[in-house]
Amino acid sequence: MANQSIVYLNGEFVSADEAKISIFDRGFVFGDGVYEVIPVYGTKLFRLKQHLERLDRSLTSIRITLPLSHEQWEKQLDTLIAKNPHNGLEERSIYIQITRGVAPRDHKFPEKTPPTIVAICNPLTAVDSDLLAQGAAVITMEDFRWQRCNIKAISLLPNVLARQQAMDNQAQEVLFFRDNRLTEGAASNVFIVENGRIITPPKSEDLLAGITRDLVLELALAHNIAHAEEEISLKRAQKADEIWLTSSTKEILPVTLLDGKPISSGQPGSLWVRMLALYQTFKNEQRV
Ligand code: PMP
Repeated sequence: MANQSIVYLNGEFVSADEAKISIFDRGFVFGDGVYEVIPVYGTKLFRLKQHLERLDRSLTSIRITLPLSHEQWEKQLDTLIAKNPHNGLEERSIYIQITRGVAPRDHKFPEKTPPTIVAICNPLTAVDSDLLAQGAAVITMEDFRWQRCNIKAISLLPNVLARQQAMDNQAQEVLFFRDNRLTEGAASNVFIVENGRIITPPKSEDLLAGITRDLVLELALAHNIAHAEEEISLKRAQKADEIWLTSSTKEILPVTLLDGKPISSGQPGSLWVRMLALYQTFKNEQRV
């Protein structure tokens, strides 16, 4: 099917059908690159500063020189949004991917090779309302990924395999545990609720510092909701009053089944209802 959308590729705006990347691109060959996903509400890039700061951290940690300043990013992304008219039905999101560029296949970094920079404007499909009302099912799994999960790397094979294993078990997401400490999901951060207090694992190299995670903590602080960053064992998660998944695309999704067993009453919890309302209000205040 023809794709009429306009994408950003290495400084140019071209139609998606015409955008071509070499088979020697290190993103294709090695998964040697990083990415970001930024929601766009109306025409507003949501939490742009935070996303660009995380992109810079990811790039720096894999030793790719920052290709654009924040001002340059904002200008290019605003142009990309303007070139892709809103269908009026769904919100949109920007997917950015930067790889170490095109070079003969060799693990060592190539010299003087410019990175490949892509930005795509995608529809942002809201979480299915039945799933939101019912809550998600998750399975637990030993975290078999690498030791640098704080980098938003495009090499996501473990996450892909884990998510598929969840789907094969009629679940929507996994909760990864490393030595009995909860890290995150395959594409989300995790919160639990205990006696009216929301808890999420502290930031470390074991998990991605989610932009949504940080916003949930910020909203909790602003609205006097007790919160903490603490380690969470499997037993603690099983006994939680509520479990939530957070991500830019899922926003805040309640979990009601953990390894086939209900969390508390098996219904989305009251603090989730409150936090989602705070999140939606915040989001709507930002929308342009
Ligand atoms: N952890 C992982 C592994 C993810 O892929 C994501 C979503 N990309 C998140 C956490 C949530 O991050 P954010 O809230 O910034 O979308």
